Amino acid sequence: SRVPFSLLHLWVLHFWIVLIGCSSILKTVSVFLILSTVNLLDSRSVMGDLGWVAYPKNGWEEIGEVDEDYAPIHTYQVCRVMEQNQNNWLHTNWILTEGAQRVFIELKFTLRDCNSLPGGVGTCKETFNMAMKESRYIKIDTIAADESFTELDLGDRVMKLNTEVRDLGPLTHKGFYLAFQDLGACIALVSVRVFYKRCPFLVKSLAEFQDTIPGSEASQLVEVVGRCVNNSLPLYEPPRMHCSTEGEWLVPIGKCVCQTGFEEINGSCQVCKVGFYRSLLESLACSKCPPHSMARQAGSTACSCEDGYYKIDSDPPNMACTPPSPVSVVRKGLTGKSSIALSWAEPDRPNGIILEYEIKYFEKEQDSSYTIIKSKETEMEVEGLKPSSVYIFQVRARTSAGYGAFSRRFEFQTSPYSTSERAQAWIVAVAITLALVLLAVVGFLRCGYSKAKQDPEEEKMHFHNGHIKFPGVRTYIDPLTYEDPNQAVHEFAQEIDVSFISIERIIGAGEFGEVCSGPLRLPGKREIQVAIKTLKAGYTEQQRRDFLWEASIMGQFNHPNIIRLEGVVTKSKPVMIITEYMENGSLDTFLKKNDAQFTVIQLVGMLRGIASGMRYLSDMGYVHRDLAARNILVNSNLVCKVSDFGLSRVLEDDPEAAYTTRGGKIPIRWTAPEAIAYRKFTSASDVWSYGIVMWEVMSYGERPYWEMSNQDVIKAVEESYRLPGPMDCPEALYHLMMDCWQRERSNRPKFDEIVCLLDKLIRNPSSLKKLVNSSHRVSNLLVEHASVEGSCSTRSQNVGEWLDSIKMGRYTELFMEGGYSSLETVAQMTSE
Ligand code: AMP
Repeated sequence: SRVPFSLLHLWVLHFWIVLIGCSSILKTVSVFLILSTVNLLDSRSVMGDLGWVAYPKNGWEEIGEVDEDYAPIHTYQVCRVMEQNQNNWLHTNWILTEGAQRVFIELKFTLRDCNSLPGGVGTCKETFNMAMKESRYIKIDTIAADESFTELDLGDRVMKLNTEVRDLGPLTHKGFYLAFQDLGACIALVSVRVFYKRCPFLVKSLAEFQDTIPGSEASQLVEVVGRCVNNSLPLYEPPRMHCSTEGEWLVPIGKCVCQTGFEEINGSCQVCKVGFYRSLLESLACSKCPPHSMARQAGSTACSCEDGYYKIDSDPPNMACTPPSPVSVVRKGLTGKSSIALSWAEPDRPNGIILEYEIKYFEKEQDSSYTIIKSKETEMEVEGLKPSSVYIFQVRARTSAGYGAFSRRFEFQTSPYSTSERAQAWIVAVAITLALVLLAVVGFLRCGYSKAKQDPEEEKMHFHNGHIKFPGVRTYIDPLTYEDPNQAVHEFAQEIDVSFISIERIIGAGEFGEVCSGPLRLPGKREIQVAIKTLKAGYTEQQRRDFLWEASIMGQFNHPNIIRLEGVVTKSKPVMIITEYMENGSLDTFLKKNDAQFTVIQLVGMLRGIASGMRYLSDMGYVHRDLAARNILVNSNLVCKVSDFGLSRVLEDDPEAAYTTRGGKIPIRWTAPEAIAYRKFTSASDVWSYGIVMWEVMSYGERPYWEMSNQDVIKAVEESYRLPGPMDCPEALYHLMMDCWQRERSNRPKFDEIVCLLDKLIRNPSSLKKLVNSSHRVSNLLVEHASVEGSCSTRSQNVGEWLDSIKMGRYTELFMEGGYSSLETVAQMTSE
């Protein structure tokens, strides 16, 4: 009835011989493990004596074996299952941590099933303990066999090779000991591997991220700032990545781009070739010099005009050089305190029919900031000038061949004011400026493209250092302000010859026709994959206009989280809009397909991207009106980009849009109450929609308000009910959603505050550990709304701080004197 010890011994050895046959397979597997892990101990790779200590001496014992290459194998076994009170220890030697604060221990072992022992169970155990010592011994875990592992058939018995991994941290010393305690089991410890994971050196988006050891806490992320590769620099913000304890790089933020005069080819920056230039960091590749200009050296940031051709410094770099302008003399007419009448002669030999004139003017010696007015006549009155001030005027003509060069400069002075008049004018000017700033801040200044007062034919634009600048904050230009929509398209979108595009696959259906994908090969540029939206045959002129509307809007944006327009095809049929290709398609479908597949940090990374794109749009003065997960596209790097600018003003194409009582079509579930009730669409209503997108993302594409009817949704929201926190949603994110759904729109966070908060959460992932109270998600019921202040809020400002923040701090005293001492009183100020 008793099993002789020698028999058990034999049994372990028998197993080990079978295992040797598999050792070459195990070696192949470990090659993959080495990639981002560093071994601190691997008992199988130690050639000589392991030097581990067994206590008592008749407990654990080493079996000296060699593999097929005669390399030693260290296996420790113990099998004192028939004797009472076993307490057998096996201590490793000192294992250096090499600076790692969290390590992993992988054990491979066999454990005899007590029931299979001949003669009954006796005192047999089926577990053993693992402990560690920095300064004193601490138990790590009790280790049991896991049956799901490799089964090796040994005659009539089945043996299981188990692999168990435990992690250990935070470690505070330079090293530690491991120990294994047996209390009467039959164990063969085949291998012990101690390793740490690290995020390996990585080059991404032209930034190098150094090999990084993760932090000590299980969910901690270590933020690493990347170094831009040679001849590149950061765009918008320094590139950052986050190293997780699993040794993975997560949440890329920011990127590097090649400096001007260089372009990215295969992950490095190469100089632009002779005849090419690159002037803007935002542009992807070097471009060919425009007509009648050249770049004689490689690495040019601009092209210079050929002899006999000209353009002015402030002309955009892609503008052709032209022969000198035929308008040569500008005369001054009636001069007032704030106006000067100008006239000029029509040129004798214009190179084509003159379409219009441009009058450029600025105050003398202040040429970094100038204004351009357009006129179809050869005379005009320039208004809004300062009294008694010298202005510089230049005129140029535009024909179908483009603009000519500006005429030489003409200096004219306005007539003087009396002292009292000047003081009065100053006060009026301050009041008007403040009212304008105030209106811009509260979001009333809607259109940056203002028509000059003097003549509807004349259009006025303000420039600063070569960029169009409007007096408010807005720089987005509504294509509606163009009489001819085709002009708007070509102002903002590059015409692409259809021969450069190959259509390879159909990837979706748009309102106007199929959406396809394929390569775009522009001459002198690297091939890229693009999405191609087509306009189906038999369209009306109105449909063509509506279709190209999207390109006129998209072409004005340049941001890593906004879908990028490559150009349009309008000169051949079908008409096409070409955009960058987003491999993972729209976000709602992508999330549904990958339910529960992402870490919280990955989801927050996606939300951060969307918020950053929306911050850019709201800074541009563009209100999206249809922000929803279905209108976000995802690329292969999980970067989310805002898209669908097509009919965001009419929303005819969105299947979610429903008619409201006022006749407009609105995607009710995503839209703020004030926008549903009285079409008050603002960046604050986009913030509401952003909150719904957050909810969609955290619930992996669940339909907001499930199958409730639109009418019920409106009613519930009106009665202060809100969506409950999605399952496993961090509380901090749910608070942010609830903030986005504040009834009072001025209480909702701004997009820059949202980006700031999400950045904070990403930097400190432990803040994401606390999940929403389970009572918030017991069922599909909506919850009563309670507001929570965002920690990045700037809402509790006083008047002085507010004026400082808009660089108008010098007027604080004037506000106080006028009785405007709180933001509430300021908000009630009228333009009068
Ligand atoms: P849209 O008309 O913009 O709503 O596009 C219709 C569908 O085509 C979308 O839902 C996407 O699945 C797909 N699609 C549109 N644009 C792209 C793109 N740039 N990259 C990949 N897929 C796209």
